[in-house]
Amino acid sequence: MEEHHREANKHNGLASPNKLYLTKLVLVGEAAVGKSSLVLRFVKGQYSENHQSTIGAAFLTQTVCLEDATVKFEIWDTAGQERYHSLAPMYFRGAQAAIVVYDITNTETLARAKNSVLELRQQASPNIVIALAGNKADMANERAVDLQEAQAYADDNNLLFMETSAKTAMNVKEIFLAIAMKLPKSSAEAGPWRRGRSGVDLSEATPQRCSSGRCSGGGP
Ligand code: GDP
Repeated sequence: MEEHHREANKHNGLASPNKLYLTKLVLVGEAAVGKSSLVLRFVKGQYSENHQSTIGAAFLTQTVCLEDATVKFEIWDTAGQERYHSLAPMYFRGAQAAIVVYDITNTETLARAKNSVLELRQQASPNIVIALAGNKADMANERAVDLQEAQAYADDNNLLFMETSAKTAMNVKEIFLAIAMKLPKSSAEAGPWRRGRSGVDLSEATPQRCSSGRCSGGGP
């Protein structure tokens, strides 16, 4: 019965109920824009002015519940590689999603973010979902990047866009949720979801699915 339902959904091009998708997401952007802080806020619900500048692990995971699917993000931080102005191709390889971060108090970081978007388009999978995050939105009194300007750039380039604050948690969960919702989920679109290490469909294999609308991943 369950199998039939799944088969039917497959043919309709709809995601099966409670299907679990493992998604590689990369954080990209100039050093000190707040990439690690955004990850720490999203995964652990914490913020620290003096935390280690890298997350100290290859990646962290966090789960987002959608109505009929669960998205488990495998979140890769750059581990400081952005200081060398080029990220290893393996960092982008297999990424189905990216958050390109700039600092709203520093226009240079937006210019760098725009370059990163070009790099992602060249090096990552063609249907990667990219979000632009204007971080440190709590520092509005030092704002250097106009919200409308960034929004217009994002619209022109088919990027999700939000201003965020790892410090106050503003729009942190929201930006990951927006990405989760935009990821292709039908079998027709799913190409990269099912290929390679990070495209594994774990729908039958893991107990970490959402139940009663709650995630196993925790967070604030
Ligand atoms: P990364 O190098 O891009 O990973 O940046 P970090 O996460 O290490 O953050 C660099 C600095 O910016 C640290 O001192 C953080 O505390 C600070 N920072 C990060 N996010 C925010 C934010 O949303 N608001 C403010 N005011 N400071 C932030």
